[in-house]
Amino acid sequence: MRVATLVEPGKIELREEPAPAPPPGGMVVRIRAALTDGTDLKTYRRGHPKMPMPTRFGHEFSGDVAAVGSEVARFAAGDPVMCVHTAPCGACFWCRHAQEELCENLMPAMILGAYSDLIAVPRGIVERNCFLKPESIGYAEAAFLEPLACVVHSLRMLAPAAGSTVAVIGNGGFGMLHALLLERRGARAILVGRRPERLALARRLGIESADSSDVPVRDLILERTHGRGADAAIECTGTLEMWEQMPSLVRRGGRVSFFAGLPGEARVSFLAARLHYDEVTLLAPFHFTPADVRDAFELIADRALPLTQLISHTYPLGRIAEAFTQLDAGVGLKFLIEP
Ligand SMILES: [Zn+2]
Repeated sequence: MRVATLVEPGKIELREEPAPAPPPGGMVVRIRAALTDGTDLKTYRRGHPKMPMPTRFGHEFSGDVAAVGSEVARFAAGDPVMCVHTAPCGACFWCRHAQEELCENLMPAMILGAYSDLIAVPRGIVERNCFLKPESIGYAEAAFLEPLACVVHSLRMLAPAAGSTVAVIGNGGFGMLHALLLERRGARAILVGRRPERLALARRLGIESADSSDVPVRDLILERTHGRGADAAIECTGTLEMWEQMPSLVRRGGRVSFFAGLPGEARVSFLAARLHYDEVTLLAPFHFTPADVRDAFELIADRALPLTQLISHTYPLGRIAEAFTQLDAGVGLKFLIEP
């Protein structure tokens, strides 16, 4: 089978490897659709501390079960499935305290390699975070299970009231998903970003959009919120500059959510008075729980969101290097990679 391997930053090789065998309680999935996201692009550009090179990569996928291991009853060869790439262990301190997104075994057991022909899925994921793909749902839509679970988790933590105004900063895939889900939940989303083709896509999707090319983000938000600031604001750019501005975008008593991460050594500063005197709350959602994955599955199965509209380009696996050259140059939004 072919496996897209990141051999050094900016260099992908398609390597031949033996097909994996299904682990006990697990299965092997033949990939039908894989998506690119910001983490994949970051890893491509500068590597990832948890993924020493050479490494396989890609983590948003759907496909068909190619083989099942012993003791798998829920799925059989030939079943179309959608999975995420992690599962909590269910036994550690965090799992026992309803914070499965912080499970200490989550990252060590993570699977990578969605940009391949086949991927081995271990027991924990098969038992807790895989679903039969409904026939009415395409493989490309089904591959949104993981990014959508992140956004479901993010909004579960933020818990915006219906009718509240939420500024979403950054109009990449995650910014768009947040805006779409907020609107569906009855909140007003203001999506802030720069690239013209993304602003145009947001408008086509019916998202209220603001262009920050020439205007400071804070001015854009105040202008649209009676000078008060948004009820909540979500950071989806992953830049220090934006992180530091976030507390200035919400009203007194507002909530800030840092969705996109910064490098581990980053330090952030903002005015303490915004927190103490203005009661601004800071949150930083990470990953997701099986309940979030189930909610994301239901949103996809109900066709609640126009997910495939977020796919800007489709490439065969054989041309994945070209796809990442394009992404690296700032072209497009999410790319669909098909074996
Ligand atoms: Zn755990």
